[in-house]
Amino acid sequence: MWKEVLGVDLITRPRQSRIYYRGKYFDYPLKIFNALSNIGAYESMRIIASYLKWQIRPYREENSFEEWVINRFGGRLYMHFFRSYTEKVWGIDPKVIRADWAAQRIKNLSLFKAVWNAISGANDTSSLIEEFQYPRLGPGMMWEKTQKLIEENGGEVQMMSEVIAVNRQDNRVTSVDVRRWSDKNEVIETNRITGTEFINSMALRDLIQAFDPPPPPDIVEAANRLKYRDFLIVTLVLDHAEPFPDNWIYIHSPLVKVGRIQNFSAWSPEMVPDPNTASIGMEYFCQKGDGLWNMSEDELRTLAGEELEELGLCGREHVIDAAVIRQPKAYPVYDGEYQEALEKIRAWLDTLENFQTVGRNGLHRYNNQDHSMLSAMFAARNILGENHDLWSVNVERSYHEEFELSEEELKSKEGKRRKHGKRIAA
Ligand SMILES: Cc1cc2nc3c(=O)[nH]c(=O)nc-3n(C[C@H](O)[C@H](O)[C@H](O)COP(=O)(O)OP(=O)(O)OC[C@H]3O[C@@H](n4cnc5c(N)ncnc54)[C@H](O)[C@@H]3O)c2cc1C
Repeated sequence: MWKEVLGVDLITRPRQSRIYYRGKYFDYPLKIFNALSNIGAYESMRIIASYLKWQIRPYREENSFEEWVINRFGGRLYMHFFRSYTEKVWGIDPKVIRADWAAQRIKNLSLFKAVWNAISGANDTSSLIEEFQYPRLGPGMMWEKTQKLIEENGGEVQMMSEVIAVNRQDNRVTSVDVRRWSDKNEVIETNRITGTEFINSMALRDLIQAFDPPPPPDIVEAANRLKYRDFLIVTLVLDHAEPFPDNWIYIHSPLVKVGRIQNFSAWSPEMVPDPNTASIGMEYFCQKGDGLWNMSEDELRTLAGEELEELGLCGREHVIDAAVIRQPKAYPVYDGEYQEALEKIRAWLDTLENFQTVGRNGLHRYNNQDHSMLSAMFAARNILGENHDLWSVNVERSYHEEFELSEEELKSKEGKRRKHGKRIAA
């Protein structure tokens, strides 16, 4: 779809990224000699010993993120390269984060594979791609063009419109109430839009609160238990081009607050209009209402400039402009209680005949754009009569772990599919 919609606007870019840890930059994907020389011979031996130890006596159950990673990489490597960054991203102890997140994000990467890739140049794991395709002016281009195509084909896309209620009668959704906003952030009007089929991509917690009449109290309570991690980016414009060659750098160091740094011209040179400047995105993971979130734009600009300098990437006096974007609900949180809450919500949503939910927060799944889009495509195809289980998109454990289904499990899966098919056809 990206190629079909964007055509020549989709360009191929080299990927380079590094990890900053203990005052040093580690190549990522791992380059064996770079990693060894940064870590030193003694610590490398300890990492290998720890890896072997955990291979011989792994955790029997992999429920938490920590257990999942340690079983694959060993405790020492986990301590160096996973713990501090994970704490920054989620703001909670990695022991509390479910293994599902690692299974989805790190996929079937093992230490052996990472080292083998580093030595052989092989590249078969999604975390390690060295080249990627990217829209000339960033991903927004894709959706602007898609909107244009929809409108050219007689469809309508309403922007600046907020769904404030999802109205239902028994187990059918009948309409949504939409509040329309002006460019000046003033409410213009509220409309009711009726329909026969509905696809949702707003966050599940907001969705459940929007139903009228509301779902049973235990479903509302389950939705209120879903948690999100918020995010803000301080984009600094520098007075010179290319301070570093990476597309992005992971900042594992707990001494600074920034979690990741983007270098926009490395993504696509056309994203920075003046080639004599650079545009650097300092990414902060935070919680709406916490200290970082509440800082003023000036304070954030100062903090980001100081941290850029502290990391040795560029002196703060080179910052000539800045912009801050705050993004609530950037990440669905996989804590100890989300799965049970999600199961409840899902079971209730499944009772609705003409309603599907898709995307990242719409499924409370850590999807990237590819899987978010795939779930939406499947929803559209379901309306046309196909039978796709949207909740199984990007369930990596079942993709990557070899397993066999018993006769009984197969029958029950088939039965569910048929039931779903009938519902859609009706
Ligand atoms: C910092 C960061 C970096 C990322 N980097 C990448 C990357 O490099 N590659 C990649 O593939 N993915 C990346 N992602 C993930 C990607 O952004 C998501 O997977 C994708 O945007 C999810 O699409 P979606 O349609 O489900 O949700 P969204 O893109 O969040 O769209 C949902 C839309 O619904 C709107 N909405 C919410 N509530 C209402 C309402 N009540 N009424 C009307 N509209 C509403 C929102 O304003 C939003 O526009 C990144 C995400 C973050 C946060």
